[in-house]
Amino acid sequence: MKNLFMKYGIVINDKQLMQFETYYHLLIEWNQKINLTTIIDYQEVTKKHFLDSCLLLTQYSEKVFFGKKIIDVGTGAGFPGIPLSILLPDSEFLLVDSLNKRVDFLTLVIEELGLNQVSVVHGRAEDFGKREEFREKFDFCISRAVAALPILLEYCSPFVKVDGTLLLYKSIKAHDEIEESDQAMQLLNCTVSSLAELANEPDFQRYIVEIRKSAPTPDKFPRRAGKPKKQPL
Ligand code: SAM
Repeated sequence: MKNLFMKYGIVINDKQLMQFETYYHLLIEWNQKINLTTIIDYQEVTKKHFLDSCLLLTQYSEKVFFGKKIIDVGTGAGFPGIPLSILLPDSEFLLVDSLNKRVDFLTLVIEELGLNQVSVVHGRAEDFGKREEFREKFDFCISRAVAALPILLEYCSPFVKVDGTLLLYKSIKAHDEIEESDQAMQLLNCTVSSLAELANEPDFQRYIVEIRKSAPTPDKFPRRAGKPKKQPL
């Protein structure tokens, strides 16, 4: 695993390697009871879940995230939040997911890996985004494989402070999704600041869309749970 990460310029130490190993074993064990991942082969999990989650660090230095608050919306089995939190022990993470069993799994992962700076909550982004303790409280919002960009903007942007940043993991479709998000961007005071291609191999592609929020999210967003998906902005 160290060599694979190194190939992409990411250095992991022995403690972090152990944390990834433990995470892998818990993932496979719990996957027999609840649906967490379709990828189970060690090499594939290492590349398509662990490395993929960490590719962000090939574009942004660790310093950018030092002491910052990061929220992972729709984290599922913990991607990208858990791998990033292993590599960023000085950043505070909140993981959110609407499936309770996945949250139970992540509670155990956080404990077993000793990730003291990570918390997990069960609920929908639309509900948490309205709550005082979460609204406009984060420096960064990250998310992978949760929804198309116009929907994701409504889920994610309420969490970040003014001048905060969304870092959204997307596939090659990122270009099309950006084109379809004009209205959502305007209504939510967001703009795309960059689109970076972090991997482009036949079976492994990753783009990160960086979005800045320039003014507070209007009170009416996010709309009630289910509405952003049913009626994207
Ligand atoms: N981010 C993970 C990954 O890349 O492997 C999980 C992706 S999975 C396809 C989508 C996850 O988003 C699910 O675990 C689902 O429960 C969660 N999700 C979908 N809509 C959500 C919402 N409105 N609020 C919170 N979580 C949501």
